[in-house]
Amino acid sequence: MILIDGKKISLQLQSEIAQEVKDMIAKGNKQPHLAAILVGDDPASQTYVGSKVKACENVGFKSTLVTFEAYVSEQKLLAKIEELNNDDDIDGYIVQLPLPRHISEQKIIEAIKPSKDVDGFHPINVGRLVLNLPTYVSATPFGIVQLLERYNIPTDGKHCVVIGRSHIVGSPMSILMAKNTNLGNCTVTLCHSHTQNLKEHTLNADIIIAAIGKPNFVTADMVKEGAVIIDVGINRVDDVTKKSGFKLVGDVQFDEVSKKAGYITPVPGGVGPMTIASLLKNTLIAAKKEF
Ligand code: NAP
Repeated sequence: MILIDGKKISLQLQSEIAQEVKDMIAKGNKQPHLAAILVGDDPASQTYVGSKVKACENVGFKSTLVTFEAYVSEQKLLAKIEELNNDDDIDGYIVQLPLPRHISEQKIIEAIKPSKDVDGFHPINVGRLVLNLPTYVSATPFGIVQLLERYNIPTDGKHCVVIGRSHIVGSPMSILMAKNTNLGNCTVTLCHSHTQNLKEHTLNADIIIAAIGKPNFVTADMVKEGAVIIDVGINRVDDVTKKSGFKLVGDVQFDEVSKKAGYITPVPGGVGPMTIASLLKNTLIAAKKEF
């Protein structure tokens, strides 16, 4: 069994990005610039945005954090988005989700200029992904593809079972794995909560990508010997031995499944660290105006 080290690959990617930024600046180009909008004081969102801003500094990007109180009006937020859309120094930006309930997330996402939508959530970018056109692939699926690539995991002709069909993980993941490219060409089965006989599908899978949000959901009896297991889940479970009172586990029962798997991502330290590296990569693509 080979443990897929997302932390290591994420650091490698970040140092490659940092080198590219140095080269761009040496050639007289401007510093890539990522902005983030944070609404409200949700501690998890604050932590995520904080790590994104810090990661920008580490690779030599300029970063701008725009914060609003939770009661900000939708109109005021849309006005800020318009401002960022028209600011030539800002290459890309993200709006940290979730937003307070009085604001329509869909309206906000659709207001972002697609060429600056480095989260890849705008319908135009999702459409471009489906059509196999250059686009910003949302960070988590993009991170997973890069892990498969860096570990030289063959995908061509393989059967990939994606569990979960969310807009940010499962759906784009299934499209990427089915794409007619080197890193795709899988036969993809997309499973969800209405799937019958899930185990029949997973037992046939060469690659399982679990993005469900249920701790230890994928068990060893559901997995074929030698399968590649990508665990996207991040779930808190009680743990009295920890100071915090909880630990993080994935959607896969790691201890048992790792005994059968050919490759497996741990939680934490697998898919998670790749998400920020992918956002930085998308920002670099935006700065280079690649499409
Ligand atoms: P989500 O929006 O809640 O979607 C969960 C999906 O799982 C849904 O499509 C749901 O089916 C499906 N599902 C639920 N119960 C199921 C069952 N019994 N059998 C089969 N499918 C089932 O979640 P998400 O945003 O995609 O996130 C999934 C997990 O990944 C969470 O733990 C989240 O924290 C984690 N995550 C990690 C990262 C990272 O960077 N590592 C990034 C994003 C998310 P229906 O559509 O039928 O409801």
